[in-house]
Parts: sequence; C-alpha cells; structure tokens
Amino acid sequence: MEISEQRIKIAVQKTGRLTDHSLDLLERCGLKFIQSKDQLFCYGENMPVDLLLVRDDDIPGLVSEDVCDLGIVGQNIVEEKRFALEQAGSTACYDQVFELDFGHCRLSLAAPENAEFSGVDSLQGKRIATSYVATLQDYLSRNSIEAETVYFSGAVEIAPRLGKADFICDLVSSGATLTANHLTEVETILESEAVIIQTREPLSDEKQEWVNRILQRLDGVLQVRESKYIMLHAPRSALDEISALLPGSEYPTIIPLDGQGDRVAVHAVCKESIFWETLENLKAAGASSLLVLPVEKMLA
Ligand code: ATP
Ligand code: ZN
Repeated sequence: MEISEQRIKIAVQKTGRLTDHSLDLLERCGLKFIQSKDQLFCYGENMPVDLLLVRDDDIPGLVSEDVCDLGIVGQNIVEEKRFALEQAGSTACYDQVFELDFGHCRLSLAAPENAEFSGVDSLQGKRIATSYVATLQDYLSRNSIEAETVYFSGAVEIAPRLGKADFICDLVSSGATLTANHLTEVETILESEAVIIQTREPLSDEKQEWVNRILQRLDGVLQVRESKYIMLHAPRSALDEISALLPGSEYPTIIPLDGQGDRVAVHAVCKESIFWETLENLKAAGASSLLVLPVEKMLA
C-alpha cells in the first residue's frame, strides 16, 4: 500500500496498553480501516486518513518531524520527550490537543520496603533506576537534589534487588507490580493519560479541514461517553429546582403537554452519570415519567 502525502497520517501504538483504546476511539469517529500485510499500516477506506502502527516511544518524534499529522500517546512519553529536548536546548514541534480519558497511570518514585524515606531529601546522593531519565532529572533539579539516575529500558522494578539502585522511578497504575517486588510508592512525579498530539507544521487547507473534522468527532465521542439524555414531566413551578438537580446540563428543553395544565415535559442532555439518588430527588421535587437514555453521537 502506498503512503500518500495528501492523506492524514495518525501514529498509534502497534501493540500495547494503548492500542485497543486508540483504534476503538478512531472507529467511533466513523473511520474504517484495512490493515496492511506487514501490519504496520492501516489504510482508511472511507476517509483520507491512514494509521501508522509504531512503538509508543516513537510517536512524539514522528509527529514532531511531520511524518505524522496526529498521534495518540501517553503524556508520560510526551513529557519525557519534551524534557529531553529542553535539556538538549531544543523544543518539541507538536501540541497536545486534548486528553482522551484512557491509559491512566502515574510516574512515581518507589522505595524498597526496608529503605528509609522521609521525603524528597532522602533521595540526596542516592541511585534511582528509571526509563524516564529526563522527567526524573527535571524533578530532581526542581527539588535541588543531586542523585544518580540509572537508565533501565524495562523491568525497572528489579533494579534494587540487583543492587543497581536505591530507589526506582516508574509507571504505576494499580500498584500490583510494585507490591509483588516489595516496593512502596513514595512520591508521584507525573499524572498521565493518553492524549492526542498534533504537528506544528502548517497543513494544506484540505488536510487541515480533515484534521479539524477528526478532532471535532473525537471531542464528540469523548463527550457522549458519560452523557445521558433525560426526559421527565414536571409542574412548571418546580422547573428551577429540577434544573438545579440535573447533573451537568446547561439548557433543558421545555415542552408544553396538551391538556395537562401546568405540567410540562423537560428534556436535557446530562454530561455526568445519573444515579438513582438523582432520579429520586427529581421525583421528590415533583417530576414524574422519568426516562434516562444513552446518547450515541453528539456534535456541538
Ligand atoms: P512499546 O512497545 O510501544 O514501546 P511499551 O512497553 O513501552 O510498548 P505499554 O506497556 O504498552 O508500552 O504502555 C503504553 C502506555 O500505556 C504507557 O506509556 C502509559 O502511557 C500507559 N500505561 C497505563 N498504565 C500503565 C502501567 N501500569 N504501566 C505502564 N504503562 C501504563
Ligand atoms: Zn514504549
């Protein structure tokens, strides 16, 4: 399959924790793909949009160098590349467009169970193993700590047992890996989730239009995740109280009900979960015939 200059290219992790969520999100935006035989490339069948399937660490570079127009990657990687470039006196050529609400994790310092840690000063003069050297360096210099960073490309959690480090700095989500390795999380350096990044290189008008369209659809997909459509009947006199009870809704639609006197129908999109308690409170405020429906698509 040919890689065309005229088509939008999005860098996505090939295999790993971000892959399924990234592809699912793009499919929800209406994109349909055929995967190439070497499985490194997905051709967009119904839009001029192709995917490059790569290691997550390569995504900021591909977007920065304008090989790809967009990329889906963890903030941990985005920040690490940014700090590395800054420390080398350079700057990254991409912008984070928005957070995608998956791939949540944090970059944390962890200590062996028997180690003494009473705050960041305990790191003074110690060895810390990490794959995130630039982010750790930034943290240490912000806290005026002189410590040795020991680079590990993976399996950072075994460094203390190998006698290679006193502490580690690694990604944590549940903490189960740390516990299994007799390590305790002591300090969070960075909170992270998957984000979409965009190149700073100017695009042709046609490509920019497609990028805007994809970003708008992504925004819509993220908004509907938690959104619900609620319908209810209520006396007009209770509308203020009822509006105040509807979670995350801005402008409810009020529709008169034929032959029901003071009662009206209220329809609203709520951008937060609706719990049973909310429905009970609405009923207590005078609402009846309450109905909550999922929202499939939204375009602001
Ligand atoms: P690649 O082969 O693409 O380099 P990888 O081994 O670096 O893969 P994964 O382990 O698949 O990457 O993690 C990808 C991303 O998932 C991380 O960079 C991070 O943003 C996110 N993530 C979420 N939870 C965790 C976790 N517990 N440990 C590691 N990464 C996590
Ligand atoms: Zn990686």
